[in-house]
Amino acid sequence: MGAQFDLISGILLGTMLAINLYAFGFFYLVNKKADQKRKMAPLCIIVTYMLFVLLVWRIEAPKGMELQAFLVLAAVVAPLALLNLSSIRFCSVCGKPWFRHHYLRAPKNCWWCEASLEK
Ligand SMILES: [Zn+2]
Repeated sequence: MGAQFDLISGILLGTMLAINLYAFGFFYLVNKKADQKRKMAPLCIIVTYMLFVLLVWRIEAPKGMELQAFLVLAAVVAPLALLNLSSIRFCSVCGKPWFRHHYLRAPKNCWWCEASLEK
């Protein structure tokens, strides 16, 4: 057994937090650069998903998690990542993020600068 939360788990978690803090700061605090953000967002979401799944495996596998249970978990989390991926948008005017959720009416105007949104 030993420590469940070892150095590699720490690195995985740290990287995941760092990417998200950076992305959050970049998306919300930096104005404009919508094109750059549109390119970066999918990468961040996919990398975060992979790091999260790896982290769970790293922590749970030594405790005897079955590969099957792990694959089920990975399959359950994947649609969440895909949902984020398909719902995040950036305003062309101010560059701030907004979300187009399938279960909510899409906003017509930017939450931040009230410019009208396309897509
Ligand atoms: Zn805007």
